[in-house]
Amino acid sequence: MTQFTDLGLIEPLLKALTTEGYTQPTPIQAAAIPFLLEGHDLLGIAQTGTGKTAAFALPILQWLSEAEGRPEPKTASVLILTPTRELAVQIAESFATYGRNLKTTRCLIYGGVGQNPQVNAMRRGVDIIIATPGRLLDLMDQGHVKLHGVETFVLDEADRMLDMGFINDVRKIVAKLPKDRQTIFFSATMAGEVSKLAGDILKNHKRVEVSPPATTVERIAQKVMFVNAGDKLALLRELLKGDAIQRAIIFTRTKHGANRIAEQLVKAGETSDAIHGNKSQNARQKALSSFRAGKVRTLVATDIAARGIDIDGISHIINYDLPNEPESYVHRIGRTARAGADGIAYSFCAADEVAFLQDIEKITRQKIEIDGEHPFHAEAVATIHASGKAPRVNRQNQGQRQNQNRGGARPGGPKQGRPAAKRGNGGGHRRPEGRSSRHAS
Ligand code: AMP
Repeated sequence: MTQFTDLGLIEPLLKALTTEGYTQPTPIQAAAIPFLLEGHDLLGIAQTGTGKTAAFALPILQWLSEAEGRPEPKTASVLILTPTRELAVQIAESFATYGRNLKTTRCLIYGGVGQNPQVNAMRRGVDIIIATPGRLLDLMDQGHVKLHGVETFVLDEADRMLDMGFINDVRKIVAKLPKDRQTIFFSATMAGEVSKLAGDILKNHKRVEVSPPATTVERIAQKVMFVNAGDKLALLRELLKGDAIQRAIIFTRTKHGANRIAEQLVKAGETSDAIHGNKSQNARQKALSSFRAGKVRTLVATDIAARGIDIDGISHIINYDLPNEPESYVHRIGRTARAGADGIAYSFCAADEVAFLQDIEKITRQKIEIDGEHPFHAEAVATIHASGKAPRVNRQNQGQRQNQNRGGARPGGPKQGRPAAKRGNGGGHRRPEGRSSRHAS
């Protein structure tokens, strides 16, 4: 078994990992870190939950600690692009955690908040920018951020980025990056356009891939409950009786649905909150912190809002609505069964969702166990499922996924970002030797 000490990491990072209680690198870390320390471009095929953030954060921190000089005003040495604000915040937290014994400066750039603190934070330049595409482009257009100093570029969750309609923004940003750079590309899937984008922006890259979601799925007890649409809320309340469910994320298809369910649960005396793209950044962070701290037992979320949320101890996932896209099912239930724990996933399935259930069973290559013992069992829905001939229903708001975050990433503002300490740089890149100096010494 590879150990962190085998990977060539420096002492301050090893110390931080020990403080965090990490004993061994995850497979993606063991495979990716040595390549990244050598300065290679990397194509990482891995989803959230595999430890991919540390896989790129550790080598980046190591390289920054060994680099000379300081970034120029308004620029940065490292740019990390990620599709959602939540992911940006989590990545920044990971850098703070792993880099606790090193001095690095970071700036978080995302929309939905005022832009001035972000502009101020960028004034003297920083080591690392962690950004969502829309706001970054806004600040670039206004001349507050320049990318000519970037030496390492990370594109995180590239497939999600494309799903959310950010492809043109990503390409515009990449066009402004120096050609001589290290590129790190992470995606859970590599179909179609993602693969083309990877081909366009990576150079002589190494490829690492970790086990597909199926391995996670196997550890989760999954049950489907056939129910009439009008009985779903009553079924949910039934499930929440007692304390078998310690901490659950309830997934809905729409933002409106998420609000409605959280409200109904609160009315019924449950502790619950909702997160989705229409909520302000503050409201989303507040809901997440209460959930993380155990102050609310249930978090009602849409797919995009929940993407990448990393909270331990989620005992149950409840799919109040089944997702249109079967991959979302795998992402949803992967929120439980973290850190080796087992989890339980319940899926409510009404008549118009049987086709989605069949799609899910196709991609996970397993039949989901039917729980017909609950008081709201709908035999008619079970019959449609058993017939294997479910009608395909066209759902109205398929465009919602795009809008949800697109809207959030654009309009302006700050969150974090400390002013960079002045290192006095004569201009140009931080390391006169260029990319070769990225090799671990
Ligand atoms: P990520 O895939 O980057 O979202 O990471 C998923 C979770 O795994 C996070 O909670 C990390 O803190 C945790 N993690 C990352 N690397 C390790 C490791 N080597 N040992 C234990 N936990 C880890």
